[in-house]
Amino acid sequence: MFAPLPDKPDHPTLELEILDVWERERTFEQLRELSRGGPSWSFIDGPVTANKTLAVHTAWGRTLKDVFQRYKALRGFDQRYQNGFDCQGLWIEVGVERELGLNSKKEIEEYGLAEFARRCRDVVVWSSAELTRGSIRLGQWMDWGNDYFTFSDTNIEYIWRFLRIVDERGWLYLGHRSTEWCPRCGTSISAHELAGHYENRLDPSLYVRFPLRDRPGEALVVWTTTPWTLPANVAAAVHPEAEYGLSENGDWVAAALYPDETFVRTVRGQELVGLRYGGPFDTLAPGAAVEHRVIPWDEVALDTGTGIVHIAPGCGTEDFELSKVHDLPVLTPVDEGGRFYSDYGWLHGMSTAESAEQIVGDLGDRGLLARADVYEHSYPYCWRCHTPLIFRLSDDWFIGVDEIRQSLLDANATVEWTPAYMGKRMDDWLRNMGDWNISRRRFYGLPLPFYPCACGRLNVIGSRAELEQRATGGLEQLEELRRPWIDAVKISCAECGAEVERVPEVGDVWLDAGIVPFSTLGWRNPEWIDQGYATGAAKGLTKADLPDQAYWEKWFPADWVSEMREQIRLWFYSQLFMAVALVGRAPFQKVLGYEKMLDERGREMHGSWGNMIEAEDAFARMGADVMRWQYCSQPPNQNLLFGFGPAHEIKRKLLTLWHSTKFLVDYGNIEKFTPRYEDLAAGPDGALRPLDYWLVARTRRLVVDATEAYESWRTVDVVRAFEAFVDDVSNWYIRRSRRRFWNGEEAALRTLWVALVQGLRVVSPVMPFLSEHLWRVLVGPCEGAPASVFLAGWPEQAEPDTALLEEVAEVRRVVTLGHQARQSAGLKLRQPLRRLVVEGAPLAESHGDEIAEELRVKELSFARIDAVELRVKPNLPVLGPKLGKGLGAVRAALAAGELEELGGGRFRAAGHELGPDEVLVERMGKEGWTVAAEDGVTVALDTALDPELELEGRVYELIHTVNSMRKDAGLELTDRIRLTLPAADADLLAHAEWIKAETLAVTVDADAGSAPVIAKV
Ligand SMILES: [Zn+2]
Ligand SMILES: [Zn+2]
Repeated sequence: MFAPLPDKPDHPTLELEILDVWERERTFEQLRELSRGGPSWSFIDGPVTANKTLAVHTAWGRTLKDVFQRYKALRGFDQRYQNGFDCQGLWIEVGVERELGLNSKKEIEEYGLAEFARRCRDVVVWSSAELTRGSIRLGQWMDWGNDYFTFSDTNIEYIWRFLRIVDERGWLYLGHRSTEWCPRCGTSISAHELAGHYENRLDPSLYVRFPLRDRPGEALVVWTTTPWTLPANVAAAVHPEAEYGLSENGDWVAAALYPDETFVRTVRGQELVGLRYGGPFDTLAPGAAVEHRVIPWDEVALDTGTGIVHIAPGCGTEDFELSKVHDLPVLTPVDEGGRFYSDYGWLHGMSTAESAEQIVGDLGDRGLLARADVYEHSYPYCWRCHTPLIFRLSDDWFIGVDEIRQSLLDANATVEWTPAYMGKRMDDWLRNMGDWNISRRRFYGLPLPFYPCACGRLNVIGSRAELEQRATGGLEQLEELRRPWIDAVKISCAECGAEVERVPEVGDVWLDAGIVPFSTLGWRNPEWIDQGYATGAAKGLTKADLPDQAYWEKWFPADWVSEMREQIRLWFYSQLFMAVALVGRAPFQKVLGYEKMLDERGREMHGSWGNMIEAEDAFARMGADVMRWQYCSQPPNQNLLFGFGPAHEIKRKLLTLWHSTKFLVDYGNIEKFTPRYEDLAAGPDGALRPLDYWLVARTRRLVVDATEAYESWRTVDVVRAFEAFVDDVSNWYIRRSRRRFWNGEEAALRTLWVALVQGLRVVSPVMPFLSEHLWRVLVGPCEGAPASVFLAGWPEQAEPDTALLEEVAEVRRVVTLGHQARQSAGLKLRQPLRRLVVEGAPLAESHGDEIAEELRVKELSFARIDAVELRVKPNLPVLGPKLGKGLGAVRAALAAGELEELGGGRFRAAGHELGPDEVLVERMGKEGWTVAAEDGVTVALDTALDPELELEGRVYELIHTVNSMRKDAGLELTDRIRLTLPAADADLLAHAEWIKAETLAVTVDADAGSAPVIAKV
């Protein structure tokens, strides 16, 4: 006997039960034991930042990882299942700062770096527990408890080793340049951290006069949107080839930018070069000390501004480069916190933002302001704290990339990217990226092991052992390889023996994550160390081992990794860089990337917009399976619109699977049907009918299609294949076989059982909970069968009978068109009709009886249908918003019949392609006939009714009514009844035998009542 199923599933409750079962039965551990010794499949988890609870967009990536790990496990692959947490860097620091109410680096230092570090670790401890809990609830199977934490000393040491090698190759250098800088975080921001963090904002748009020293009454006019940079001005750049004009009021501007202006004089830019001018802030000491002059620059823009560019080398990348060419002084007006230094007089202490208004006022007072507006432009923000970035001169540590660039491109060429365009994006990035800025002036991060000496030697420490060996003191207090403790350890210079100290900077977090394919797999580690990865801050949080070189050789490179597209410049990049630098090849062979998650209306999700969905909430309201279904049905090249609306739709689809299973369970139990586990491999046997052979073929087709989809990393195709399969099972096989189930035909029960169980097996990686639950219901009665669908392996693949599948697919097409024709004629299926003619479906010809029965027509013929008129109208609620003003032309073209039929219900009219849901299609046949057509198949339905047909239609209505009454009265499927019809329906007694058979009535009579009455016998 099967365990009975309720009318519909309660996903969240069912999922919690399955989680209990998995834990009780140690299902995951059993699976790992089963695949031990099998071929290995290496997946490396990109670490999730441990500063939050599980969010629905993180759950997306985790689902994809789990889907493919489960799939590979079903196929017998041995896997590692190591989860990773990212534990250092600004994300963590900024959260702790907020919690403690600290607002600057100075306040952190006053608070105490040791205590600050402990608080940062607390966040990781809390968040890693939360993320683990959420991921388990999502159904993700990982080796929880053996996770890697990037703040472990072992991870840090591996990065030191990498930096040492980079230094030995001569790639490491200290750069002095003007760079994007976050004044709140007090650190420079690297190019890869800027991507995606630009926003539109309004800034002052100032046209400022720089009076020429030797030409009284004449001034250069420059344009700027950053008033705070004006006190750092040292030069003005003109395009040497462009034409500049002097207007009557004495202003010089590029003529091309002022086409309506009449100039009193024009010259080529070259002629202005070398002129000296009075700086805008010569009233302050730094400006007064500079001799301001005009320089030539080929890059001067001649489409915005005035064609004369204000140059402040301390506040802009290009400006800084120009200062080297023209030997210009470099003024740095603001400190780490973005506030003016004391030599800037009345500006001292003001932030760049606060100073704007005062600077504008001051320029105005002194008559230097030609014009002031506001200007909207795209501006970079700090990716972590959302402060507008500024440019600032900074000394940063860089890794030069030019020598490795080609090797990176070559390595990327060996990687198979899905979708393919993401691989191209990586190529673009690799071709164009500048040197890697690896230093951050912060606290909770990888301590850069750089010890510069006055003698000129840069000492780079490559391991803890080396540090200990070269330390001159401070080792006794070294709790972790981390600030502040590491800063107290000084070493002796390898060149001159002098005592040297570490630079204060910490490393880019992407170093932490990029080293993972080495640090977690034991690269070059001579001997396996139990719990050897659980060092430093990771001690007590994980039991992860530090494996040895042999293990690394087995598991490197990863067969597959998967993350969001933005990781191209981040984790995918840093990993690729480090692997190519260390071992000369890519760390992964295949990548699955995916786009962004938005809300169901296509907006970004933001806590403050109220459209953020917590994973916890989604688990409770839709369930993990439905979330996973939503993630998996997403093509990876499009943004995912996630929400409760789509979840509702998915639940409805899953209900079809549920009902089909319940159908088998209910009728199987009536017949005391016992399934045989070996049928899954051998196929159902017994007195199989053509429809059974079709379902066998259809099931094989599903297995083949799903396998292919998994192998090409296309979960969307798994979902599509499964949905089509469930539709075929429910709306064709079961529909067409109901009577056989009522009669308890074993071949039908066996065939349906095999189909449903095989279906569960292939969809189980996507939807583990419901699959497991239904597996236990359907396979539970089989002696000796695996208790879990995940212990059953992957279904064997057999060639489906393609000819048979095509035949039935064509039959279903004809039936669908027949239903369409009925619908457009307003004729319910319960009303039998006289005739249907079919054209263009030769494969369906041997199924005429089935089609006639399905469509309830008395005669069916395959013949030519002539004189069909096609009418297509716009579906206004859909097309209106889409086409806007273009609607009129489309509507006119359709009305005039000027259209092209594209197949699949699509049309082209007035240059627009119109989808099936965007048009209303009507095909008119001869008088009294309704026509439907698609993809070369046409059906014509005779809509005329006669008394005989009408009477039969009423019998079908009655049968439907009585069976609903049976259900409402709570009768069992096998209960017999007595049926009494109202007087008005007495004429239906002509079909008494038919009615009795369909309603399980032992008698049927009529009396004076006004409605049918049933009574259980
Ligand atoms: Zn910031
Ligand atoms: Zn030295």
